[in-house]
Amino acid sequence: MEFQLGGLQVSGETQGEHVRVLIIGSGPAGMSAALYAARDQLEPLVLTGMEMGGQVSLTDRIDNYPGFPEGIKAQELIDRFKAQAERFGARFVMDVATEVDLSQRPFTVKTYSATYTADALIIATGASARKLEVPGEAELTGKGVSYCATCDGWFFQDKDVIVVGGGDSAVEEGLFLTRYARKVTIVHRRNKLRAQPYLQKQAFEHPKIDFIWDTVVTEILGKDAVEAVRLRNVKTGEERVMPIDGVFIFIGHIPNTELFKGQLELDERGYIKVHNWVKTSVPGVFAAGEVADPRYRQVVTSAGMGAAAAIEARHFLSEEG
Ligand SMILES: Cc1cc2nc3c(=O)[nH]c(=O)nc-3n(C[C@H](O)[C@H](O)[C@H](O)COP(=O)(O)OP(=O)(O)OC[C@H]3O[C@@H](n4cnc5c(N)ncnc54)[C@H](O)[C@@H]3O)c2cc1C
Repeated sequence: MEFQLGGLQVSGETQGEHVRVLIIGSGPAGMSAALYAARDQLEPLVLTGMEMGGQVSLTDRIDNYPGFPEGIKAQELIDRFKAQAERFGARFVMDVATEVDLSQRPFTVKTYSATYTADALIIATGASARKLEVPGEAELTGKGVSYCATCDGWFFQDKDVIVVGGGDSAVEEGLFLTRYARKVTIVHRRNKLRAQPYLQKQAFEHPKIDFIWDTVVTEILGKDAVEAVRLRNVKTGEERVMPIDGVFIFIGHIPNTELFKGQLELDERGYIKVHNWVKTSVPGVFAAGEVADPRYRQVVTSAGMGAAAAIEARHFLSEEG
């Protein structure tokens, strides 16, 4: 069997295996769960998914993870997370969970290339960027439409871009884009930002940043690349076409829980419901990080949940002897 994983062509089929603890996801939550489970000699196996390191791999630096007073390059933090877990015996497999059966134990997880069974399962599949769902968005993704300023900002040197959104991510990424772009216009559907005050202050004072308030993007236009956006003022209904080179969309996240629908209790937004921080509705299945946390959404909080999930998995397995 052959499949593409993060630009890598992977081939071959394996039998899969039975493991004590299977971790789905290699973001901060999955990495930290792997470290704790490995130190507890539970010999965890991590299915990394498409994004080794999770959303951290989409940014350049992390400045607010404790222990690194000068900040740390995101890739270096990922490498360190992984190396630390591997030091205690955690194994990482580049594969994607495609189907799970949580109705009986051992739990079954199918991937593109194998079938695994596990005595305990830690779900750390994180969250993904929310889409605008407007005409042109899908067609022009990678051709001027982006969800990651750190990944794509470089391509917009001396160009004009818009940032869609009004929260922390939109403003933070808008500020980041000023390193490259000639002008950054933040388009927000309300008349004030939701971002933290210190970010708002930086954005309002930045000479390269402009704002368009009470406005939504209704269409992204362009043939082979983004050429313009159609905007609608939500108060007046007035429409106009604005020529633009790039569209960066930061309008929130959706949890990666499609796989678990009907098997685990999810909240109305699709996040896994947890009690005692990391316990799901199925005993032996634990959830950690953004897949179960719409509120804090940080590297440190996700890593904290990963550690807690591994500790709970150990309690669960030792209670049943
Ligand atoms: C651009 C950007 C900048 C950020 N900057 C900061 C910052 O400075 N400081 C900070 O604290 N936080 C920052 N964050 C937030 C931080 O990255 C997240 O809070 C954190 O990564 C969440 O960790 P997680 O492990 O829960 O999930 P994620 O990081 O989302 O990881 C999810 C993992 O699950 C895997 N996965 C998904 N589905 C499957 C599947 N079916 N099978 C197998 N694997 C699967 C993915 O491949 C990935 O490895 C930033 C986020 C972004 C996007």
